[in-house]
Amino acid sequence: MSWLSKFVKPKIHALVKKIEVPNNLWVKCLGCEQMVYNKDLKETYSVCPTCGFHLRLSSTDRMDWILDEGTHREIEISDVVFDPLKFKDKKKYSDRIKEAKSKSNQNDAIFLRSGTIGGQKAVVAVMDFEFMGGSMGSAVGEGIITAAEKAIDINSALVIFTSSGGARMQEGIFSLMQLPRTIIAVNKLKDENIPYIVVLTDPTTGGVTASFAMLGDVTFAEPGALIGFAGPRVIQSTVRETLPEGFQTAEYIYEHGMVDEVVPRSKLKLKIANVIRHLSNNNVGNSARA
Ligand SMILES: [Zn+2]
Repeated sequence: MSWLSKFVKPKIHALVKKIEVPNNLWVKCLGCEQMVYNKDLKETYSVCPTCGFHLRLSSTDRMDWILDEGTHREIEISDVVFDPLKFKDKKKYSDRIKEAKSKSNQNDAIFLRSGTIGGQKAVVAVMDFEFMGGSMGSAVGEGIITAAEKAIDINSALVIFTSSGGARMQEGIFSLMQLPRTIIAVNKLKDENIPYIVVLTDPTTGGVTASFAMLGDVTFAEPGALIGFAGPRVIQSTVRETLPEGFQTAEYIYEHGMVDEVVPRSKLKLKIANVIRHLSNNNVGNSARA
Protein backbone atom coordinates (compact mmCIF):
# COMPACT_ATOMS: atom_id res chain seq x y z
CA MET A 1 0.00 0.00 0.00
CA SER A 2 1.54 3.28 -1.00
CA TRP A 3 1.79 6.22 1.38
CA LEU A 4 -0.72 7.93 -0.84
CA SER A 5 -3.51 5.43 -0.09
CA LYS A 6 -2.34 4.71 3.45
CA PHE A 7 -1.99 8.27 4.80
CA VAL A 8 -3.23 10.86 2.35
CA LYS A 9 -6.48 9.21 1.25
CA PRO A 10 -7.90 8.69 4.79
CA LYS A 11 -7.03 12.31 5.64
CA ILE A 12 -8.87 13.60 2.58
CA HIS A 13 -11.85 11.34 3.46
CA ALA A 14 -11.90 12.68 6.99
CA LEU A 15 -11.92 16.25 5.66
CA VAL A 16 -14.82 15.79 3.29
CA LYS A 17 -16.81 13.32 5.37
CA LYS A 18 -20.28 14.55 6.35
CA ILE A 19 -20.78 14.96 10.05
CA GLU A 20 -23.71 12.76 10.91
CA VAL A 21 -26.32 14.64 12.91
CA PRO A 22 -29.17 12.63 14.40
CA ASN A 23 -32.33 13.75 12.62
CA ASN A 24 -34.40 13.99 15.79
CA LEU A 25 -32.36 16.74 17.45
CA TRP A 26 -34.54 19.52 16.08
CA VAL A 27 -38.27 19.78 15.52
CA LYS A 28 -40.02 22.34 13.34
CA CYS A 29 -42.71 24.22 15.25
CA LEU A 30 -46.00 24.18 13.34
CA GLY A 31 -46.92 27.55 14.84
CA CYS A 32 -43.94 29.83 14.17
CA GLU A 33 -42.03 27.48 11.81
CA GLN A 34 -38.85 27.95 13.86
CA MET A 35 -36.61 24.98 14.51
CA VAL A 36 -36.81 24.04 18.19
CA TYR A 37 -34.22 22.00 20.03
CA ASN A 38 -35.80 18.69 21.03
CA LYS A 39 -34.31 18.86 24.52
CA ASP A 40 -36.02 22.23 25.11
CA LEU A 41 -39.33 20.71 24.01
CA LYS A 42 -38.93 17.90 26.54
CA GLU A 43 -38.67 20.49 29.28
CA THR A 44 -41.77 22.37 28.14
CA TYR A 45 -43.76 19.18 27.44
CA SER A 46 -43.87 19.94 23.73
CA VAL A 47 -44.98 23.56 23.96
CA CYS A 48 -42.93 25.80 21.65
CA PRO A 49 -40.77 28.10 23.83
CA THR A 50 -40.92 30.82 21.13
CA CYS A 51 -44.62 31.08 20.27
CA GLY A 52 -46.43 28.82 22.76
CA PHE A 53 -47.80 26.49 20.06
CA HIS A 54 -48.87 23.17 21.56
CA LEU A 55 -47.26 20.34 19.63
CA ARG A 56 -48.62 16.85 20.15
CA LEU A 57 -47.35 15.14 23.26
CA SER A 58 -46.77 11.39 23.08
CA SER A 59 -49.12 9.29 25.19
CA THR A 60 -46.33 8.00 27.44
CA ASP A 61 -44.85 11.48 28.00
CA ARG A 62 -48.31 12.74 28.81
CA MET A 63 -48.90 10.02 31.37
CA ASP A 64 -45.48 10.63 32.96
CA TRP A 65 -46.26 14.33 33.14
CA ILE A 66 -49.78 14.23 34.54
CA LEU A 67 -49.34 11.77 37.40
CA ASP A 68 -47.20 12.72 40.40
CA GLU A 69 -43.82 11.09 40.42
CA GLY A 70 -43.68 7.74 42.18
CA THR A 71 -47.47 7.27 42.27
CA HIS A 72 -47.96 5.47 38.93
CA ARG A 73 -49.80 2.12 39.09
CA GLU A 74 -50.57 0.19 35.93
CA ILE A 75 -54.14 -0.84 35.21
CA GLU A 76 -54.52 -3.74 32.83
CA ILE A 77 -57.21 -3.82 30.17
CA SER A 78 -58.75 -7.25 29.49
CA ASP A 79 -58.24 -8.76 26.07
CA VAL A 80 -61.07 -8.33 23.59
CA VAL A 81 -62.12 -10.40 20.57
CA PHE A 82 -59.37 -9.71 18.12
CA ASP A 83 -60.24 -8.85 14.51
CA PRO A 84 -63.88 -9.98 14.76
CA LEU A 85 -64.60 -9.45 11.05
CA LYS A 86 -61.29 -10.87 9.76
CA PHE A 87 -61.07 -7.58 7.92
CA LYS A 88 -58.77 -6.94 5.01
CA ASP A 89 -58.35 -3.93 2.70
CA LYS A 90 -54.95 -3.26 1.15
CA LYS A 91 -53.53 -4.96 4.20
CA LYS A 92 -54.93 -7.38 6.74
CA TYR A 93 -56.25 -5.64 9.86
CA SER A 94 -54.30 -8.14 11.96
CA ASP A 95 -51.07 -7.00 10.23
CA ARG A 96 -51.90 -3.33 10.81
CA ILE A 97 -52.41 -4.04 14.51
CA LYS A 98 -49.13 -5.95 14.73
CA GLU A 99 -47.31 -3.05 13.08
CA ALA A 100 -48.91 -0.46 15.35
CA LYS A 101 -48.07 -2.55 18.42
CA SER A 102 -44.42 -2.88 17.54
CA LYS A 103 -44.12 0.84 16.64
CA SER A 104 -45.78 2.16 19.77
CA ASN A 105 -45.12 -0.54 22.39
CA GLN A 106 -48.80 -0.26 23.32
CA ASN A 107 -51.50 -2.93 23.07
CA ASP A 108 -53.98 -0.53 21.52
CA ALA A 109 -54.85 3.16 21.27
CA ILE A 110 -55.43 3.67 25.01
CA PHE A 111 -53.63 2.91 28.23
CA LEU A 112 -54.48 3.41 31.88
CA ARG A 113 -52.81 4.15 35.17
CA SER A 114 -53.83 5.22 38.62
CA GLY A 115 -51.96 7.57 40.91
CA THR A 116 -52.30 11.13 42.13
CA ILE A 117 -52.49 14.47 40.30
CA GLY A 118 -51.28 17.29 42.53
CA GLY A 119 -52.01 15.03 45.49
CA GLN A 120 -55.53 14.10 44.32
CA LYS A 121 -56.35 10.44 43.62
CA ALA A 122 -57.12 9.74 39.97
CA VAL A 123 -57.47 7.05 37.35
CA VAL A 124 -56.02 8.38 34.10
CA ALA A 125 -56.73 7.14 30.59
CA VAL A 126 -54.58 8.47 27.76
CA MET A 127 -55.44 7.86 24.11
CA ASP A 128 -52.59 7.39 21.68
CA PHE A 129 -53.05 9.01 18.26
CA GLU A 130 -49.93 7.27 16.99
CA PHE A 131 -51.71 3.93 17.33
CA MET A 132 -53.86 3.70 14.18
CA GLY A 133 -54.96 7.33 14.52
CA GLY A 134 -56.30 6.78 18.03
CA SER A 135 -59.24 5.00 16.45
CA MET A 136 -61.86 3.51 18.77
CA GLY A 137 -62.39 -0.22 18.43
CA SER A 138 -63.35 -2.83 21.02
CA ALA A 139 -60.05 -2.43 22.90
CA VAL A 140 -60.49 1.32 23.40
CA GLY A 141 -64.10 0.75 24.52
CA GLU A 142 -62.88 -1.87 26.97
CA GLY A 143 -60.25 0.61 28.19
CA ILE A 144 -62.85 3.27 28.99
CA ILE A 145 -65.06 0.72 30.78
CA THR A 146 -62.10 -0.62 32.80
CA ALA A 147 -61.05 2.94 33.72
CA ALA A 148 -64.56 3.86 34.88
CA GLU A 149 -64.95 0.65 36.91
CA LYS A 150 -61.55 1.13 38.52
CA ALA A 151 -62.35 4.74 39.43
CA ILE A 152 -65.57 3.57 41.14
CA ASP A 153 -63.74 0.69 42.79
CA ILE A 154 -61.01 2.83 44.37
CA ASN A 155 -63.23 5.91 44.77
CA SER A 156 -61.04 8.25 42.75
CA ALA A 157 -61.66 10.70 39.93
CA LEU A 158 -61.44 9.65 36.29
CA VAL A 159 -59.42 11.84 33.92
CA ILE A 160 -59.40 11.02 30.21
CA PHE A 161 -57.14 12.64 27.61
CA THR A 162 -58.77 12.14 24.24
CA SER A 163 -57.00 12.01 20.89
CA SER A 164 -58.70 10.19 18.09
CA GLY A 165 -59.56 10.18 14.42
CA GLY A 166 -62.85 8.41 15.17
CA ALA A 167 -64.22 4.89 14.96
CA ARG A 168 -61.99 2.02 13.85
CA MET A 169 -63.44 1.18 10.47
CA GLN A 170 -61.81 -2.25 10.38
CA GLU A 171 -64.10 -3.36 13.21
CA GLY A 172 -67.29 -2.14 11.52
CA ILE A 173 -70.37 -2.40 13.74
CA PHE A 174 -68.24 -3.55 16.71
CA SER A 175 -66.55 -0.17 16.61
CA LEU A 176 -69.86 1.70 16.61
CA MET A 177 -71.05 -0.39 19.56
CA GLN A 178 -68.34 1.25 21.65
CA LEU A 179 -70.28 4.53 21.60
CA PRO A 180 -73.17 3.31 23.81
CA ARG A 181 -70.82 1.06 25.83
CA THR A 182 -68.57 3.96 26.82
CA ILE A 183 -71.54 6.26 27.49
CA ILE A 184 -73.02 3.70 29.90
CA ALA A 185 -69.62 3.36 31.59
CA VAL A 186 -69.19 7.09 32.24
CA ASN A 187 -72.84 7.46 33.31
CA LYS A 188 -72.14 4.95 36.09
CA LEU A 189 -69.55 7.42 37.43
CA LYS A 190 -72.27 10.02 37.76
CA ASP A 191 -74.47 7.59 39.71
CA GLU A 192 -71.60 7.10 42.15
CA ASN A 193 -70.68 10.83 42.35
CA ILE A 194 -67.21 10.16 40.97
CA PRO A 195 -65.65 13.24 39.30
CA TYR A 196 -65.14 12.76 35.57
CA ILE A 197 -62.84 15.17 33.75
CA VAL A 198 -62.14 15.16 30.03
CA VAL A 199 -59.22 16.90 28.36
CA LEU A 200 -59.66 17.22 24.59
CA THR A 201 -56.28 17.20 22.87
CA ASP A 202 -55.33 17.54 19.23
CA PRO A 203 -57.12 15.98 17.36
CA THR A 204 -60.37 14.70 18.86
CA THR A 205 -62.92 13.80 16.21
CA GLY A 206 -65.53 11.26 15.09
CA GLY A 207 -67.02 8.61 17.36
CA VAL A 208 -65.01 9.70 20.40
CA THR A 209 -66.46 13.22 20.16
CA ALA A 210 -69.88 11.62 19.73
CA SER A 211 -69.65 9.62 22.95
CA PHE A 212 -67.67 9.73 26.23
CA ALA A 213 -65.53 12.77 25.28
CA MET A 214 -68.43 15.19 25.55
CA LEU A 215 -69.85 13.92 28.83
CA GLY A 216 -67.30 15.15 31.38
CA ASP A 217 -68.41 16.95 34.52
CA VAL A 218 -65.75 19.41 33.44
CA THR A 219 -64.30 19.50 29.94
CA PHE A 220 -60.99 21.17 29.16
CA ALA A 221 -59.27 21.57 25.80
CA GLU A 222 -55.67 22.29 24.88
CA PRO A 223 -54.98 25.47 22.87
CA GLY A 224 -55.29 25.11 19.13
CA ALA A 225 -56.58 21.51 19.29
CA LEU A 226 -58.75 20.33 16.40
CA ILE A 227 -62.06 19.19 17.88
CA GLY A 228 -65.08 18.18 15.87
CA PHE A 229 -67.18 15.32 14.55
CA ALA A 230 -66.86 15.26 10.76
CA GLY A 231 -64.03 16.95 8.87
CA PRO A 232 -64.49 20.55 7.62
CA ARG A 233 -64.56 19.49 3.96
CA VAL A 234 -67.45 17.08 4.57
CA ILE A 235 -69.39 19.74 6.48
CA GLN A 236 -68.72 22.41 3.87
CA SER A 237 -69.98 20.23 1.06
CA THR A 238 -73.06 19.25 3.09
CA VAL A 239 -74.16 22.71 4.24
CA ARG A 240 -72.80 24.42 1.09
CA GLU A 241 -71.51 27.37 3.06
CA THR A 242 -68.02 28.68 3.72
CA LEU A 243 -67.03 27.77 7.25
CA PRO A 244 -65.88 30.53 9.62
CA GLU A 245 -62.21 31.01 10.42
CA GLY A 246 -60.92 28.86 13.26
CA PHE A 247 -63.89 26.48 12.88
CA GLN A 248 -63.38 23.31 14.97
CA THR A 249 -60.51 24.67 17.03
CA ALA A 250 -60.56 24.48 20.83
CA GLU A 251 -60.99 28.27 21.03
CA TYR A 252 -63.92 28.28 18.59
CA ILE A 253 -65.83 25.54 20.40
CA TYR A 254 -65.11 27.23 23.74
CA GLU A 255 -66.73 30.43 22.42
CA HIS A 256 -69.72 28.34 21.37
CA GLY A 257 -70.11 26.67 24.76
CA MET A 258 -68.87 23.16 24.03
CA VAL A 259 -65.95 23.17 26.49
CA ASP A 260 -65.55 24.79 29.90
CA GLU A 261 -62.06 26.21 29.40
CA VAL A 262 -59.09 26.16 27.05
CA VAL A 263 -56.11 25.60 29.31
CA PRO A 264 -52.41 25.83 28.36
CA ARG A 265 -50.51 22.63 29.14
CA SER A 266 -48.36 24.42 31.71
CA LYS A 267 -51.44 25.16 33.85
CA LEU A 268 -53.44 22.02 33.16
CA LYS A 269 -52.13 19.81 35.93
CA LEU A 270 -52.88 22.30 38.69
CA LYS A 271 -56.27 23.04 37.15
CA ILE A 272 -57.23 19.34 37.08
CA ALA A 273 -56.05 18.83 40.66
CA ASN A 274 -58.15 21.79 41.82
CA VAL A 275 -61.23 20.55 39.97
CA ILE A 276 -60.91 17.05 41.46
CA ARG A 277 -60.55 18.52 44.93
CA HIS A 278 -63.54 20.74 44.40
CA LEU A 279 -65.76 18.02 42.91
CA SER A 280 -64.90 15.35 45.41
CA ASN A 281 -65.22 17.81 48.29
CA ASN A 282 -62.17 16.13 49.63
CA ASN A 283 -60.09 19.00 50.90
CA VAL A 284 -58.06 17.33 53.61
CA GLY A 285 -55.17 19.73 53.46
CA ASN A 286 -53.44 18.29 50.42
CA SER A 287 -51.97 21.17 48.52
CA ALA A 288 -51.86 20.89 44.75
CA ARG A 289 -48.34 20.61 43.43
CA ALA A 290 -48.17 21.28 39.74
ZN1 LIG B 1 -43.36 28.10 17.70
